[in-house]
Amino acid sequence: MTTFSDKTALIIGGSRGIGAAIVRRLSADGAAVTFSYAGSAEASAALAAETGATAVRSDAADRSAVIDLVSAAGPLDILVVNAGALVLGDPLELDADMVDRMFDINIRAPYHAAVEAARRMPDNGRIIFIGSTNGDRIPFEGGAAYALTKSAIQGLTRGLARDFGSRGITVNAVQPGPTDTDMNPGDGPMSDLMHTFMAIKRHARADEVAGMVAYLAGPEAGIVTGALHTIDGGFGA
Ligand code: NDP
Repeated sequence: MTTFSDKTALIIGGSRGIGAAIVRRLSADGAAVTFSYAGSAEASAALAAETGATAVRSDAADRSAVIDLVSAAGPLDILVVNAGALVLGDPLELDADMVDRMFDINIRAPYHAAVEAARRMPDNGRIIFIGSTNGDRIPFEGGAAYALTKSAIQGLTRGLARDFGSRGITVNAVQPGPTDTDMNPGDGPMSDLMHTFMAIKRHARADEVAGMVAYLAGPEAGIVTGALHTIDGGFGA
């Protein structure tokens, strides 16, 4: 028996980065894992072969696809909504369609996925959103639209915790700081600037974030809900 040996989990956006680390961790801990991806078919096939998880192509920007994905996954013990887009830049110059697509992926998908999952989720299920420390603090220019999406996750987390609490379903957000992924490489152009804001001046590893997700998904966290769990090296301290 391992922690999640009788549990089913869906990770929305699991092909790369933090999502892939969550797929690896929950699979290693015994869950029957399904994960979605949008473009990375090869990486998804490799991850599925490595972990035994099931990969499904589904665009998180498409509301119907999100609802169909969750519905088809059947009753879920654990839902993790990780898929995220990052559009940074001068708000006077940004492409409005790109900003709206980010809103679809980062705000609408978590809402509709969580509501659809809750329809069939057994008592004591787990809903976990991947937010960001930027939901609390955006200490550089060009991040207003992204920060908006991660602040939205905070309200969603608190509200749904109230809605589903009577069933023992917990709803939490994990708020990473700079984490070494394709979205934010540890040796990327903004790394030095980001490290100036941090008490521990390095990017997190994706598996460190996955460890927090595993705790929230696990049996010890049944009374933890409606909460924002920041893992950011002191970025927001
Ligand atoms: P990556 O860009 O490295 O990976 C993003 C993942 O999300 C991929 O698996 C990608 O799939 C999937 N995804 C993106 N768009 C869609 C979509 N439309 N439909 C389905 N899947 C999609 O990002 P990270 O791992 O860095 O970020 C994961 C989450 O963590 C995001 O919500 C991000 O905002 C948040 N975060 C990241 C931080 C960081 O420093 N890295 C800091 C704070 C928060 P595919 O490969 O198919 O495109």
